[in-house]
Amino acid sequence: MTQAAYLLDCYTKEFVGTVKSVKDDKFVVLEETYFYPQSGGQPFDTGRILKEDGSEHNVVFVGKFGGEISHEVDKPGLKAGDKVRCVIDWDRRYKHMRMHTAAHVLSNVIEKDAGALITGNQLGLQQSRIDFSLEDFDREKFKEYEAHANRIVSEGHDVNLFLMSRDEAEEKVERLSGLAKGLPPEIREVRLVEIEGLVIEACGGTHLANTSEIKGIRITKMENKGAKNRRVYFELAE
Ligand SMILES: [Zn+2]
Repeated sequence: MTQAAYLLDCYTKEFVGTVKSVKDDKFVVLEETYFYPQSGGQPFDTGRILKEDGSEHNVVFVGKFGGEISHEVDKPGLKAGDKVRCVIDWDRRYKHMRMHTAAHVLSNVIEKDAGALITGNQLGLQQSRIDFSLEDFDREKFKEYEAHANRIVSEGHDVNLFLMSRDEAEEKVERLSGLAKGLPPEIREVRLVEIEGLVIEACGGTHLANTSEIKGIRITKMENKGAKNRRVYFELAE
């Protein structure tokens, strides 16, 4: 299993590592990585892997396959045992962090204020979306929800990350017991994301250290996706 170092440290953008294996000359597994693999509605990181001889390999995709995190590179030349320096494209990654923490804030407000059930999300660089189930869809009220979310942004809540056993996590978070039923039994370790004073939930994504870094949330579009299924799109202030 690759050590997913980004779970407890989302701000490392350069690191030194060791290649564990290479498949088909382009799928590179490191002993430990800070590159985020595509999952949970958050897109993968891009960046570069540099060898000691100076050769550069662009990381064009990162995915998770059976516990290993695989970095797809654009050219051959890396092999098991190589010592490498890795650089994450920080602009892209940091935008996804802002979007992800913003999605937690806005989702929580929509859940609590509107009584909706969140069913999914997809983060992007310019725009992200949240899907939820809600009987009475009063679009006017979403102006208030947006304002509430922006209060949480400007209040500057710290965001804390935890990695713990599933049993500990289930004790720590009541709502997780419902959530944990959907987790496959082989998953024994859970990553929790807490927005202080607001919400704690299981999530594998990368997050900001404080909600103030979101700067501002703007709902741009609302859609009906069936009888009770709704979708909102949002952007961030620059
Ligand atoms: Zn999340």
